[in-house]
Amino acid sequence: MAIRNIRTEDDPLLRKLSRDVTKINKYIEILLDDMRETLDSRNGIGIAAPQVGVLKKVIIAVDNDDNKIEIINPQILEKSGSQKLKEGCLSVRNVNGVVERPEFVKVKGLDRNGNEIIIEGYERLARVLDHEIDHLNGILFTDKIIEGEYEEE
Ligand code: ZN
Repeated sequence: MAIRNIRTEDDPLLRKLSRDVTKINKYIEILLDDMRETLDSRNGIGIAAPQVGVLKKVIIAVDNDDNKIEIINPQILEKSGSQKLKEGCLSVRNVNGVVERPEFVKVKGLDRNGNEIIIEGYERLARVLDHEIDHLNGILFTDKIIEGEYEEE
């Protein structure tokens, strides 16, 4: 495993669309292992493959019990509610801002063995899933920062 460099906000790669993973091979397994290690090295709660320079639909989200969930080709099936909280991003140093996210997000995808998984995320996990899936669409949280009232975490 290896810690990979994290792309930062002015990198045009972060604005591109990621592609579906068509085959889960050794390359994808190594990517996931490296993303885990990179996430740990930065004490993050989520990471998406474009952040390490790979335009593939692969994310890792840390759930509300601090377990890492690996999701390949994540697809949002449902979103509901809303929460407005401060967040940051490994790719955007020294910036935090209030972003409105759904309170609940249901995501379908594959695990590293190619099995279909359904993840239901509430509260923090809903936010992380929404944030990481935005990365696959070239969206950064700084695009969504809102002013005004918010809930303290
Ligand atoms: Zn991010």
